[in-house]
Amino acid sequence: TDDSTRELLLSRIRDVTDYPKPGVMFKDITPLLADPKAFTVLTDALAELAVRHGATKIVGLEARGFILAAPVAVRSGIGFIPVRKAGKLPGATLSQTYDLEYGSAEMEVHAEDLREGDRVIVIDDVLATGGTAEASVELVRRAGAEVVAVAVLLELGFLDGRARLEPHLRGVPLEALIKV
Ligand code: AMP
Repeated sequence: TDDSTRELLLSRIRDVTDYPKPGVMFKDITPLLADPKAFTVLTDALAELAVRHGATKIVGLEARGFILAAPVAVRSGIGFIPVRKAGKLPGATLSQTYDLEYGSAEMEVHAEDLREGDRVIVIDDVLATGGTAEASVELVRRAGAEVVAVAVLLELGFLDGRARLEPHLRGVPLEALIKV
């Protein structure tokens, strides 16, 4: 991604202070989604990453990760696999619990969607503390597949999610189109 691409994408992300609670700066991507030029540029950039890393499966993380990953899957001709919050997938699932700031959460994937030999790129909108990405990497690996990249639109550098994630990535690239 070149400077003009990054500039366009960043200009379509809205900062919302104190959402969903005081002290949090929420990065709202809905202006980007509403702009077909920016959304296309984003889709193309992520699809290029998927192809470059030789992905054979695209994993999107509920909920905003779905919105970004689905058009990437169509554009690149690679299958889309949803990682969902617990209790939403009807088939046999693998599940992974992870810590949130308060309490914990659980994510699931259909066990039959991933297997040994699959090369997975994990896509989400924002990397904050890295907990969500870390859990998704564990989930994909437990399903027997290989993670070849984790890709996000926006990395919040000040939260050090990359530092938290890196020991778990074991050399797998963390690709952020924009970092603030
Ligand atoms: P984390 O697990 O802390 O890296 O949080 C990442 C997940 O929470 C992603 O799925 C994001 O969609 C969401 N998220 C966390 N912090 C923010 C933020 N400041 N703005 C927008 N989304 C966020």
